[in-house]
Amino acid sequence: MRFLIATGNPGKLRDFQGMEPEIAVELLPGFAALPSVEEDGDSFAANARKKAEFYSRFTELPVLADDSGLVVDALNGEPGIYSARYSGGTDEDNNRLVLEKMRGVPWEQRTARFICVLAVARKGKTLATFEGATEGRLLDAPRGAHGFGYDPLFFSTEANIGFAEIPASEKARYSHRGKAARQLLAWARSAGQQ
Ligand code: IMP
Repeated sequence: MRFLIATGNPGKLRDFQGMEPEIAVELLPGFAALPSVEEDGDSFAANARKKAEFYSRFTELPVLADDSGLVVDALNGEPGIYSARYSGGTDEDNNRLVLEKMRGVPWEQRTARFICVLAVARKGKTLATFEGATEGRLLDAPRGAHGFGYDPLFFSTEANIGFAEIPASEKARYSHRGKAARQLLAWARSAGQQ
């Protein structure tokens, strides 16, 4: 099953490409040249729908959008929907900021989860949304060389290993994105999508 995704994040694309062989996720052709959309929704779902609806106006085919982020209990849910721009800098800057804010917080209180909402839209209208979440704890220093974003700080209590310590195919078995994508796949099968 083939989906066109509207994303400027190569890490997300790699995650999808390491998934179920049945799901082929490709970048929406010409995406880089299209205008960007302001992610000003107040939830992952609102932003996912906004992106999918906006970019689906540029093609006849259904378009997939992913809005996701890290939710840290000890930081009252931050960085949440602001995950991509938490520090205003790079992924490494974001990680440094989270580590700084979490300094001294004991292991039992370092609980966190990744959340992903996938939205599918066609010709400006959302057809469906799917949400996946995965539980873990924040490490006190980056670990591993795989993944992207906050992966080096995320110890998955579901996989029992850091997300940056495993390749995309293994991460997808436990990840928020993998869980949402499997719901998308079931929906697409039942809706008879090709
Ligand atoms: P979005 O483009 O607004 O959805 O931003 C998502 C941001 O959340 C990314 O830039 C990462 O910082 C973070 N994020 C989402 N999913 C993951 C993941 O699987 N691993 C690590 N970081 C993630």
